[in-house]
Amino acid sequence: MLEKDIVIIGAGHAGISCAEALRTKGFKGTLTVVDGQKGFPTEKPPLSKGAIVNGTSEDYSVPLLKPENWYVENNIDLKTGITVMSIDRINRKINLSNKNTISYTTLVIATGAIPIELGITRKHPQSFTLRNSKDAKEISRAASTLKSALIIGCGYIGLEVAASLTERGVKVTVVETEDRPLAKISSSAIAEKLVEIHERKGVKFRFSNSVVRIDNLKNEFRVLLQTGGHEIAEMIITGIGVSPDSILASKSSLAKNENDKNSICVNENFVTSDHHILAIGDVAKRVGTEKRIESVDNAQEDGKEAASYIMKEVKQPRGVPWFWSDQYDKTLQIAGLVPITDANKKMVFRPGKRGDGFSVWSFVDEKLRSVEAFSDPSSFAIGKRFLSDELSPTSCEIMDLSTDLKTIYKRFHTKANPT
Ligand SMILES: Cc1cc2nc3c(=O)[nH]c(=O)nc-3n(C[C@H](O)[C@H](O)[C@H](O)COP(=O)(O)OP(=O)(O)OC[C@H]3O[C@@H](n4cnc5c(N)ncnc54)[C@H](O)[C@@H]3O)c2cc1C
Repeated sequence: MLEKDIVIIGAGHAGISCAEALRTKGFKGTLTVVDGQKGFPTEKPPLSKGAIVNGTSEDYSVPLLKPENWYVENNIDLKTGITVMSIDRINRKINLSNKNTISYTTLVIATGAIPIELGITRKHPQSFTLRNSKDAKEISRAASTLKSALIIGCGYIGLEVAASLTERGVKVTVVETEDRPLAKISSSAIAEKLVEIHERKGVKFRFSNSVVRIDNLKNEFRVLLQTGGHEIAEMIITGIGVSPDSILASKSSLAKNENDKNSICVNENFVTSDHHILAIGDVAKRVGTEKRIESVDNAQEDGKEAASYIMKEVKQPRGVPWFWSDQYDKTLQIAGLVPITDANKKMVFRPGKRGDGFSVWSFVDEKLRSVEAFSDPSSFAIGKRFLSDELSPTSCEIMDLSTDLKTIYKRFHTKANPT
């Protein structure tokens, strides 16, 4: 017998994908989605991009995950602006901030993650983190009057916010403890290119550095850096990563990964240590996976797979993880996980067909592990196909510019699928 009452906590990319997949797969029972944020659920990627660049314009609104009428049409009870305070595992109920309770047969936790804050930047009206549309609106509004920003952290959020604020005419400085951007997740060729495009627009980087003290002057901050010297900025944005939002799991004693920021432990079917409760998206770490991935694709795939499990369907093989980032008018696309720490890695640079586009193909023991493409969508598409089909060209083939990537792929594909 299929579950009767499914409740999903969190209307983000994972929660909504799960709700959609459940209905598509024929789930007929009660389906409730609860989210602490008010309004119809929105996409996250535009928050560091369009929502900062255009956030103060009357005509701009953050794109919705689903059209407003979709929830009614799919018989999904969407409750927003209501936070789940606790889970009563014994009676299988959740307790809400409006004092109501909802019973569940199966509960799906899709609560995402929370930005990590530094004690020294917390709680100041000109100091921000970025996770939801309210945060993006505040940053966008601040950029209307404040003319300089210090960004702490040079990951994707830091870089995208740097680009968006620069487009708004704000003077940006980025401080990063590592010696380059995206040090743990991208190749150095990609990092160098990103630094180049930002510096050309006037962004200043302070690598191998960290913030040790922040003094509040009248309308600005004086930020002391570890290597000496200081920066003056009117606003601060902290983008140093996120922690899985596993507070509900802690309160209800579900098993967590202490060595991975207390993410919720789930088995290969996303089931937690309580078999009536699943966890998906940024908040969950699946047993046997190399690392927890924080991306739209991962959240959506988790949602679909969890729905298949609930509906007792055979699991479909999962594609290769992929990610993208937009900065100025450039797009970076990555398929697979870049092998940063592997001893036997080899990274091959391949120029793209147009402009300054290129791709970086990473191999470990001559097996393709990832493809990063800067302004080079066709190389990304072929690289992603190679990885999804578990086919690996050799590094020499990728280095040989006389052969088109499509031709190399076709050759492999025909060899793997002879007629
Ligand atoms: C600014 C920004 C830009 C990004 N850009 C990209 C990009 O370009 N490409 C990409 O692949 N990924 C990007 N990401 C990452 C991607 O958005 C996340 O990995 C993805 O949103 C994770 O989905 P999720 O459903 O697990 O969590 P979320 O989308 O964060 O959803 C979690 C939801 O749970 C709700 N919630 C939490 N606790 C409770 C509670 N107790 N009660 C009720 N509701 C609760 C929250 O309000 C939230 O709406 C970006 C993220 C951010 C923040």
